[in-house]
Amino acid sequence: MSYPGRPAGTPGGDEFLILATGLNTPEHATSLVENLLETLKTPFILTHGQLEIMASAGLVIGPLDATDGQTLMRYADMALHHAKDGGKGRYLRYSTQMSQSLDRRMKIYQRLRQALKQNSLELHYQPQIDMINGGVVSVEALLRWTDDELGYVPADQFVAVAEASGLMDELGLWVLETACQQLSQWQSQGLLLRMAVNLSAQQFNQPHLIQQMGELIWRHGLRPDCLELELTESQAMTNPEQARVIMQRLSDLGFNLAIDDFGTGYSSLAYLQLLPINRVKIDRSFVARIETSEEGKRLIRGIIGLAHSLEKEVVAEGVETIQQLNFLQEFGCNAYQGWYFAKAMPASDLVQFVKTSQYAARRMGDPQAAIHIQ
Ligand code: C2E
Ligand code: CA
Ligand code: CA
Repeated sequence: MSYPGRPAGTPGGDEFLILATGLNTPEHATSLVENLLETLKTPFILTHGQLEIMASAGLVIGPLDATDGQTLMRYADMALHHAKDGGKGRYLRYSTQMSQSLDRRMKIYQRLRQALKQNSLELHYQPQIDMINGGVVSVEALLRWTDDELGYVPADQFVAVAEASGLMDELGLWVLETACQQLSQWQSQGLLLRMAVNLSAQQFNQPHLIQQMGELIWRHGLRPDCLELELTESQAMTNPEQARVIMQRLSDLGFNLAIDDFGTGYSSLAYLQLLPINRVKIDRSFVARIETSEEGKRLIRGIIGLAHSLEKEVVAEGVETIQQLNFLQEFGCNAYQGWYFAKAMPASDLVQFVKTSQYAARRMGDPQAAIHIQ
């Protein structure tokens, strides 16, 4: 792949190439890899303790998959990265779909660079609704991109490419600038909302984040508590102590912090207690199970109880039905977001939308009656 970085097919610092000759069938090759990974799982006994490692592997078979050495190495590299994406300790054999998906990611990368230069990306805003009074309390800024050649590209697809290719810093900065500019414009129109912005892992870990955030709100004349920075649970869990320190500094500056996709990253109660977060966002996959499984309901009740005991608010995302909303309301969830109320919309639609829904909520005295848009 021609993303910036090392050339495709060249083994990186912690990667090794094994050339196995004389294997008669593809099954021999797979059992060789399986044995290798199994052997590497055994802890290494060292003088001062033991070392456990997890290896992943990409398998390519010549001449079935390719005939020249360079292509074989490139395909092995692709298979390795697909295996790693699925978790540690796995292997995958190269398939043509991998090349196709790489071609698409390459295309996305090239067009995204172009889109950033031409300023043709957009932010849409999804309302977050207070469970008690039915008013819009906040909006989440979500990237939208329709490319001339690729058509509509879902945000998680191009955000993943931006992360892998080094474009995320520029993209993330654009999101923050645009969101702040919008928020300051709404404030001057008398629309007082909190703005939630997603921070990517790369943005979160870059050394200038704190300074950048300070400058950003100063330049746009905003108070830090108008902004809420969303970090996924897995981001916070990758290096928990480092994440806690960065979050503490952001919180000390006055920014709101939320843990996104909560429930998917296996964080412990003890850890959650240490984080200076204001809100926990229950992942959409849990909300989707409210109507279909008792276990799903129990989980949500547990998350709400846990978060409240730590004095954190709870926001449910992906609410699509009245049954889900009723359940969440009954168990004290503080706010929700979802297509039942509204999809993310362009800034130009939001002002009117908020006015209409606030009016409807006041008139009916019932958050569920606020408005229903599809
Ligand atoms: P996320 O942060 O978890 O955002 C919520 C996603 O759920 C959004 O998808 C939203 O449109 C979708 N959603 C909201 N309500 C419902 C619902 O009721 N039903 C269903 N089925 N979906 C609902 P979207 O906009 O496609 O974004 C996907 C992901 O892309 C986001 O997940 C986030 O991880 C990433 N993303 C989007 N914008 C940004 C951004 O500006 N920066 C970063 N770092 N990531 C972003
Ligand atoms: Ca989010
Ligand atoms: Ca989420």
